[in-house]
Amino acid sequence: MIKGIGIAGIAGRMGQLLAEETLAAGLKLVGGVDRVAGTNGVTMFKDISALAEACDVVVDFTHASTAQSHAVTIAAGGAAWVLGTTGLSAEDEAAVAAAGKRVPVVYAPNYSAGVTLLMALAERMAAALPAESYDAEILEMHHRQKVDAPSGTAVGLGRAVARGRGVRLEDVTESGRDGHTGARKTGAIGFAALRGGQVVGEHSLLFASGTEHITLSHRAFDRRAFATGAIRAAGWVYGKPIGLYGMTDVLGLIS
Ligand code: NAD
Repeated sequence: MIKGIGIAGIAGRMGQLLAEETLAAGLKLVGGVDRVAGTNGVTMFKDISALAEACDVVVDFTHASTAQSHAVTIAAGGAAWVLGTTGLSAEDEAAVAAAGKRVPVVYAPNYSAGVTLLMALAERMAAALPAESYDAEILEMHHRQKVDAPSGTAVGLGRAVARGRGVRLEDVTESGRDGHTGARKTGAIGFAALRGGQVVGEHSLLFASGTEHITLSHRAFDRRAFATGAIRAAGWVYGKPIGLYGMTDVLGLIS
């Protein structure tokens, strides 16, 4: 039985919901860390190292700049790590993978059940629809405060399409089109990002051929969809063998 959860970024939009969902799931909230003051009644730890030693699972929704140091510190402390922060660089992700060789880690760009299912479907569709005929385009919209683009979920969808096609996303990405871009390359995976208002998260994946369009889309109305999933992941990962897992593992989906 899991003893307690610690939350990195506990004062943030996600952090506050994660604290609520921890208690709603009947789990113990050990406390949290943040750059700013926490909420009343929540134990604040002096740093991530102290938090990782005090809890079984660290649920981390902070900022990409923390990823490498958290990877080292949390792995050293021995706690499992549920990482939700997006906008990670290739070096950041290498550090996350290294942590996954020392402790159990769940890393997902989107913890909602609906998007996790969408990613599994995206991979299967991409495997079935030839890249020469079906152009894959990913469109996302988020609130005006979001600092990274395209969203982690959009990149995750792109990776799912790339996996289905047996290519590397880095080799086929087309994003931020502007000006005289030339014709679309066959097999490219395109990204477009909209920012505005208070949109929690909208994603569409379009496969467009000369004869038909197929669209998968998802709209999150409430951030709580991510918090519920992340706390479910925290309960799941506790006691699992050392390794790097995704939300498809947590939900038992075959990707
Ligand atoms: P936010 O800015 O409201 O909260 C982030 C919190 O982290 C802030 O309180 C900030 O003070 C704190 N923080 C930043 N750097 C820190 C550090 N070095 N040490 C301790 N605390 C630090 O942002 P948010 O909307 O809660 O999102 C946080 C992250 O989670 C973003 O990367 C966002 O894209 C991601 N996110 C992921 C999912 C998912 O399902 N994977 C869902 C929503 C948001």
